[in-house]
Amino acid sequence: MPAENPAAVAATGGLHAWEAGGAASAEALAAWVGARLAAHEASLAALLAGEGPRTPENSLRLFDAAIEQLNLAGAQAGILNSVAAEKTVRDQAQLEAQRVALAGSALSLNRQVYEALAAMDLEGSSAATKHFVQRTLLGYRLAGVDKDQATRDRLQALHEKATGLSLEFSRNIQEGGKTIEATPAELDGLPEDYLARHPADAEGRTTLSTDPPDMQPVMTFATSAALRERMFLAYNTRAYPANKTILKQLLATRQEIATVLGFRSWADLATADQMMGSAANVRAFLAKLAEASLEGARREHELILEFARRRQPGLTVVDIASRAWWYEQFRRSAFDFDSQSVRPYFPYAQVEAGVLQTAARLFKVEFRRSTAPAWHPGVSVFEVFDGGQPVGRFYLDMHPREGKDKWFSAAPVVTGVRGRTLPEAALICNFPGGPPQRHGPAATTPGSKDHFLGTPVAGDPGLLQYSDVVTFFHEFGHLMHAILGGQTEWAGISGFATEGDFIEVPSQMLEEFFRDEKLLQAFAKHYQTGETLPSETIKKMKLAGAFGRADWVRSQLYYTTLSLDLHDQDPAGLDLDLTTRQLYQSLQPWAWLEGNRMYASFGHLTGYSSNYYTYAFDKVIALDFFAQFDPSDLLGCDAGSRYRKTVLEQGGSKPGRQMVRDFLGRDEEFQAFSNWLNEEFEGGGLDTLAV
Ligand SMILES: [Zn+2]
Repeated sequence: MPAENPAAVAATGGLHAWEAGGAASAEALAAWVGARLAAHEASLAALLAGEGPRTPENSLRLFDAAIEQLNLAGAQAGILNSVAAEKTVRDQAQLEAQRVALAGSALSLNRQVYEALAAMDLEGSSAATKHFVQRTLLGYRLAGVDKDQATRDRLQALHEKATGLSLEFSRNIQEGGKTIEATPAELDGLPEDYLARHPADAEGRTTLSTDPPDMQPVMTFATSAALRERMFLAYNTRAYPANKTILKQLLATRQEIATVLGFRSWADLATADQMMGSAANVRAFLAKLAEASLEGARREHELILEFARRRQPGLTVVDIASRAWWYEQFRRSAFDFDSQSVRPYFPYAQVEAGVLQTAARLFKVEFRRSTAPAWHPGVSVFEVFDGGQPVGRFYLDMHPREGKDKWFSAAPVVTGVRGRTLPEAALICNFPGGPPQRHGPAATTPGSKDHFLGTPVAGDPGLLQYSDVVTFFHEFGHLMHAILGGQTEWAGISGFATEGDFIEVPSQMLEEFFRDEKLLQAFAKHYQTGETLPSETIKKMKLAGAFGRADWVRSQLYYTTLSLDLHDQDPAGLDLDLTTRQLYQSLQPWAWLEGNRMYASFGHLTGYSSNYYTYAFDKVIALDFFAQFDPSDLLGCDAGSRYRKTVLEQGGSKPGRQMVRDFLGRDEEFQAFSNWLNEEFEGGGLDTLAV
């Protein structure tokens, strides 16, 4: 049985596509994925050929080995689709990701495999094994395994269509980067290092891309409203109009799958095996969120608008493209906090070291730099040790590159199985800084499609905004989940394999650690003077950061409701432009900007589909979890070890509901979230407000 034997895996190209040449050559990648799929098929064939009474050892082991191969191929095809330097390799990776997804949906409709697993005797099996089998069988029933052959063929064809459309949607966003031009006057307000990275051309014009390191500072710091508006519209039309058509087709295909399976809507199908359970439960949760945030958000908007009117007499509204800029101005004035002033304390390399150090102390693990190969020379590799024993590996691909995905994410690389395979995971991010890959904009080809200006230049310290640092903590929370949860008995319950709507708990939990002063001061040192970030600044930063939370919850509510609404009705009559605008206007006080096509680049619609509520729902859980830590000794208190053991190490061995109860001793409550939401008004920041 080739798939069961690690030596056989090595013989067919090993655990890493890049070691088989798959990061540089489309052919090598196809061969590597082909070998994984062949091993997958061989395992399933061995499972079906089995005779005698079915047991986890003679049946589930082979099924799990098949899953392991599928995970491996899917994870790495997905990563190379996002990061490979060559377009031909990215194109091939997209095809391979589709091939793997097809094998996955074929498996989910394979009645013989289902019957073999359903026939297993689970007497004496561990709770984790029982949970794995129960979830697997539920997944089979939700996929339609009990339908007749013609219906299953139809479902398989629909899955194939949906996968193709999803991949195309994502790739259009990834490759749909735009550029805008700015006059020297329009660059007023932007930081020095940003200007140094963006020299003007011979005519005095500066080209800016829509990549986050170029886009975000414009939205926060550029004084010119015209520039902010151009950037906003360029950013929010990246994959438009192509993705408008694709999204409509994708929604129709998903609705058809749901209908064939007897569900009212895709949202009901997609929540059936989640902690939430149904679209109606999501709506009830959203109503609670709406109520909790309404008053605070109204007050925040009023304060900003009043402030903006004093600064700019005659101004009637603050629009969606100016919101971040006015927030920044307001925070400077109301809290004496200028978010640029902390950037010199957050050079990329120090933040990386600080995040690693925090996680190492919190989870009692050790990270050592590794020379293991990765897909690109710019990637740093670390081995994770626990009590001197290796327990996994991670890859940090942290800076922008031509053709690379433009967002921030964590991804599995190798699924861990206790005693068999060590887990590996990766962060794919776009922070400023990093090793220079080109000699600045002058060396690029003007006008070429991949003209790329966010590229790091020599000597750039990569100064992060504090929101970037929070993002780093967030993604690292995912990474730790993959590694520490990657020591389970089965690949099918390893790492991220919880219910999908539990997955943003570990990430949002780690975000909270950023708020701790001691912890922050351990790494926030001025990149030129070495001075530690002053306590007074941290205090102001925290007050300023707490302002706007209710408004932030309202924007989450907007994304969440949009993701749900698009998947909870007949898409035939859906007007995407009208729906997104009307929904925004019903939930947000900021003025909408005509021409905003945000749905075309709302990438989470492929992965989370109707379930973007995951972020808000998990925020409630994460804040309740964080409230269990001793604020005077966040890293030393025993909550850290308990959290690691009862939550992270479990991977998907238990229902999310059970993990919540194991850690809290009860279900999550709304109180911690509510406290967090109202902190600005309790913290005294606004009582002394002199706008
Ligand atoms: Zn996340």
